[in-house]
Amino acid sequence: MNLTALQEQAIQLDEFDPLADFREQFHIPVINGKEVRYYTGNSLGLMPKTTPDYLMEVTNDWARLGVEGHFYAKHPWLSYHEIFPPLLAPLLGSLESETVVMNQLTVNLHLMMVSFYRPTAKRFKILCEGRAFSSDQYAMESQVRFHGFDPEKAIVEVFPREGESVIRKEDLLESIRQQGDTLALVLLGGVNFYTGQLFDMQEITRVGHEVGALVGFDLAHAAGNVPLELHDWEVDFATWCSYKYLNSGPGGVSGVFIHKKHHLSDLPRFNGWWGYRKEDRFQMGKGFIPIETAEAWQLSNAPVLSMAAHHASLDVFQRAGMERLHAKREQMTYLMIDGLTELKRLHPGKFEVFTPDSTQERGCQTSIYFSSGGRSVFNELEQAGFITDWREPGVVRVAPVPLYNRFKEVADLVTQLDSILSS
Ligand SMILES: *Cc1c(COP(=O)(O)O)cnc(C)c1O
Repeated sequence: MNLTALQEQAIQLDEFDPLADFREQFHIPVINGKEVRYYTGNSLGLMPKTTPDYLMEVTNDWARLGVEGHFYAKHPWLSYHEIFPPLLAPLLGSLESETVVMNQLTVNLHLMMVSFYRPTAKRFKILCEGRAFSSDQYAMESQVRFHGFDPEKAIVEVFPREGESVIRKEDLLESIRQQGDTLALVLLGGVNFYTGQLFDMQEITRVGHEVGALVGFDLAHAAGNVPLELHDWEVDFATWCSYKYLNSGPGGVSGVFIHKKHHLSDLPRFNGWWGYRKEDRFQMGKGFIPIETAEAWQLSNAPVLSMAAHHASLDVFQRAGMERLHAKREQMTYLMIDGLTELKRLHPGKFEVFTPDSTQERGCQTSIYFSSGGRSVFNELEQAGFITDWREPGVVRVAPVPLYNRFKEVADLVTQLDSILSS
């Protein structure tokens, strides 16, 4: 499809987009008096216009009620976090008892490994994807050392084959089988942050369990992006952040999923008062009696201000509906692929697309790799008001999202890249 046809198709798609009105519900950043074209919803999602109202509700209740806000706020702070499981269930494919919103992502990765990484002399390895996000690598390495093992021996990274950009599913599954009874934990990013590759979490979980390992996912780039069925897939645990696709503000509160089958098990866990049985939590006696859900993993009382922003955003998701979001995301992906295919024809050898084409293997993000000159392409995009993101050594990541991006922005990006690469 030539670039004129691409533009025309984008305009058509926008015209018939049932989610088109949702863009109005977000603040689009303005630079030099002009709305930017925003492609970094995978890094920091935009702010819903309702967010300040949700925050103000909390600050007003605080001003009005002081400590009594725990009980008498419009949404009482004592149980504020209980708002989230029903809102998250359709995004995650979870039972309401299986999620809890708490802490930050890396903190939660550690807490999950406390429970789900219990190495023995024989079964001590963690399998992850090569080029996992830095913080995940540091968390895994330090957990391994904490248990007295050597990360060099205990961490198994699976890489793409020579000359390929993403990891083959059969290689991943084969590595899991190969590690067999030495494997304690499989811990992957559900969607890799660098390549945008979406892993087959159901199959990975199945094969991980087959060899007797536990299986968890970091869903930082998956939650609010791709369809998830964590409960049915029997994933043991997952954790994510809320500030990327979930639009809940910088450093926003994280969440965890813990499969029901583990709630009453004897897994070790770091405890705090907010995980204690609710009926008599405030007796504050000796001996810990856990809540019989994922809430048992909570340590502290809820960071309500951060949660208010999360609440605002998840209400937008609920109004949009995941089915419509997934349908639009797929259409945006097809348009992006058509555009980049044409761009490749026009500029052979200038760039390579890392992200797989199949919507089974990717979400919103496309990672465009430039073996040289990528940084200046990124800079030129920025100067033209296109906000994308740069990852060393040569990747421009772009992630138009169905909630607030237009199809036109996908076509515009391709057109802009064409003009940059032509000059
Ligand atoms: C964004 C991201 C993080 C960030 O961790 P924080 O604890 O929220 O700072 C960690 N892991 C992955 C895979 C990410 O994409």
